[in-house]
Amino acid sequence: MPEIKIDNLTKRFKEVVAVDDLTFSFPEGQVTCLLGPSGCGKTTLLRMIAGLEAPTSGIIYFGDIDLTQLPPRKRNIGMVFQYPVVYRGISVYKNIELPLLKRNIPANERRQRIEEALELLNLQDQADKDSSQLDNVSRQKVSVARAISYHPDIILFDEPMTNIDANSRVQFSHFFKELSKKLNQVIVYVTHDQTEAMTLADQIALMEDGRMVQCNEPRALYNEPEEVFGGWFLGNPGMNFIAARCEQSAGKNVLDSSFFQSPLFIATHGLDREVTIGIRPEHISVSETALSNAVNAKVKRKSITVGGQFLLVIEVDQVEVKAKVSHPSNELMSAKSVWVEFPLEHIVLFDQHQKRVHAELTYARK
Ligand code: ATP
Repeated sequence: MPEIKIDNLTKRFKEVVAVDDLTFSFPEGQVTCLLGPSGCGKTTLLRMIAGLEAPTSGIIYFGDIDLTQLPPRKRNIGMVFQYPVVYRGISVYKNIELPLLKRNIPANERRQRIEEALELLNLQDQADKDSSQLDNVSRQKVSVARAISYHPDIILFDEPMTNIDANSRVQFSHFFKELSKKLNQVIVYVTHDQTEAMTLADQIALMEDGRMVQCNEPRALYNEPEEVFGGWFLGNPGMNFIAARCEQSAGKNVLDSSFFQSPLFIATHGLDREVTIGIRPEHISVSETALSNAVNAKVKRKSITVGGQFLLVIEVDQVEVKAKVSHPSNELMSAKSVWVEFPLEHIVLFDQHQKRVHAELTYARK
């Protein structure tokens, strides 16, 4: 199956630039999640790939074939939407068969494709069931079975879990992962839900305002954001950001902040004076007793998170950060002040343009 390439792809709706000069590849055999906040252009990009929206400029390739001008029916794309497209009052089997009939697929091949799709989706037992009797997960599975039975070159999913309740999402995710491994083709999956993207994607393409901020394997995207936006958007809550100044001292870049017990040397070139320190809440070390490089901080608020961890809002010199603690001791939970340390390996630096600065940090003892 070919990869999909987009080259300088732009879509404007009057003054709104929905997709802004994107160049990108969706690799073979991988699930690429398009992730980003509402309005960032995910659906528009997906619709252009499907041929449902014409680009303002740019090219879409399927392998080496330019299909920018081809109508949807000539693109051999399977699509699964937010709302399951299921015809009520007819069986699951017939639901999968109808589009194949429209395409004049001969009877034998039709049967073979339907049986194959039913098996892949684990729907064999429901084949004769009236589709009106199905729950939302099974209904969405029927939509997927239908998309697969076309034998598409690529499959596009547009927020397919929107109408599935929280408990059943785990079930759908599990099924999707198994299926994507078996299909081993280009799958593009649009979502604004970071947990969904983290669970399902081989790579996540993070979008903001029509542009691609970063594309990486989920863990790398989370741990190594290339822009402030990635640090902020991913995580619950997202990264902490602290403004700091970088000074030159004896030919070295030195960074200081009230969250450091002693300043840090930064080994990099051409750094701005104003930088932003980024650190994820779960990476901050918090203790009721003094840690080696810790500073004392006031505890402002405490709350419990959905995952059963504790979120402490702590303050040093009127700057607040959020720290996540998994198994706090009773002493820590009742403390009015705590010791906090930012482990150097978890500090990410950003410049004035909110872009990551790759730099090695070491303590510069006073
Ligand atoms: P959501 O998650 O809410 O669906 P999205 O990331 O998929 O958001 P798009 O739906 O692609 O974003 O929209 C991108 C931008 O383009 C938005 O500002 C939207 O208002 C605008 N837009 C999308 N479709 C149209 C249209 N048909 N006409 C005018 N503007 C549009």
